[in-house]
Amino acid sequence: MTRTEFSIPRRPCVAVRIGAITVGSAAPIVVQSMTNTDTADAQATTAQVVALAEAGSELVRITVNTEEAAAAVPVIRERLATQGLTVPLIGDFHFNGHRLLAKYPACAEALDKYRINPGNVGRGKKKDEQFSTIVEIACRYDKPVRIGVNWGSLDQALAARLMDENARSPTPKPATEVMHEAVILSALESAQRAEEIGLGHDRIILSVKMSGVQDLIAVYRKLAIRCDYPLHLGLTEAGMGSKGIVASTAALAVLLQEGIGDTIRISLTPEPGGDRTQEVIVAQEILQAMGLRSFTPQVTACPGCGRTSSDYFQHLAQDIQTWLRQQMPVWRERHPGVAALKVAVMGCVVNGPGESKQANVGISLPGTGEIPVAPVYVDGEKTVTLKGDAIAAEFQKIVDDYVVQHYPTESEWST
Ligand code: SF4
Repeated sequence: MTRTEFSIPRRPCVAVRIGAITVGSAAPIVVQSMTNTDTADAQATTAQVVALAEAGSELVRITVNTEEAAAAVPVIRERLATQGLTVPLIGDFHFNGHRLLAKYPACAEALDKYRINPGNVGRGKKKDEQFSTIVEIACRYDKPVRIGVNWGSLDQALAARLMDENARSPTPKPATEVMHEAVILSALESAQRAEEIGLGHDRIILSVKMSGVQDLIAVYRKLAIRCDYPLHLGLTEAGMGSKGIVASTAALAVLLQEGIGDTIRISLTPEPGGDRTQEVIVAQEILQAMGLRSFTPQVTACPGCGRTSSDYFQHLAQDIQTWLRQQMPVWRERHPGVAALKVAVMGCVVNGPGESKQANVGISLPGTGEIPVAPVYVDGEKTVTLKGDAIAAEFQKIVDDYVVQHYPTESEWST
């Protein structure tokens, strides 16, 4: 059985347990996401957490911004439990997290991790007090914390301090470099403070999110060599559609290739009424395209050109990819290893047979002017030639049979 994972040496870091999930050290890079429902609406939020988890999100973050939201958190946890879902829930706190966590202990208990933004904990003297309150509660309930710095809400006192120091330096650095250092220091100083309060070194994850690709790469590279906390990667405010996907991929691919990053989230702005699970699928596809993890069998399809005037192969490729993704909730349990399956759907004889032979199962459809037949290749050998109106159904059956035969259940292995 072929496996596609590549072994890129990862930056050494400690492992942090979040519920049943491990982030960091040798653990696979974890996919996470965030809901966009009103957390106070327990029904809508539970439904979205379920959708994200079923799409493959291994951690789900929910905002906890009001008393109603804090009160809803244990209800959401309970409703997930009744559906058999144990996906860890992360509470996202800004401004009033210290009050909400103190006033709603059931919320503090029900969450599996807290996210603190050092730039939004409080101002002046209150900042230290409020930060301490959240960390003390995390210690009391044995919850890990992500110290999540965001460029857009950077601790202004820290930024001003570094700018002043730089202005007094005989060799001042460019302002961008100083701001990068402010983002990194905000994360590192907050982590140090959290440890002084009593939070374990292995209960801290860091992130330093930026909205520019080059900024993000620069700050994570520097942060990666200055600590051994696991790092959560994400391009903040990535944007909509292809822009958000491409910018996130460009930034994260560079860092992941350098072994930097232990958990990722893709911050896509959904189209109005769009599907929130898209951010999970994009995160999975980045990791799978890089050969770092396998989530769903992949379809290799040619782009098409003037040699195939029909869009039949486009429909077949799309239908097969959709069908494969739909099978995964069942196949994942029933056919271990199936995520590494490769299927090819090609448009004509030029690259069709060659690419199809490289896949586990491939089909080379007839191009314009070619004899209307479609040879199918299984593990590099031509096994059958399909023709007529039922090519799609017959090809799907061949893929299904391949999965059953080549990815048996554990009990079938032993018989
Ligand atoms: S395989 Fe054929 S149809 Fe597809 S892009 Fe290549 S030449 Fe064009």
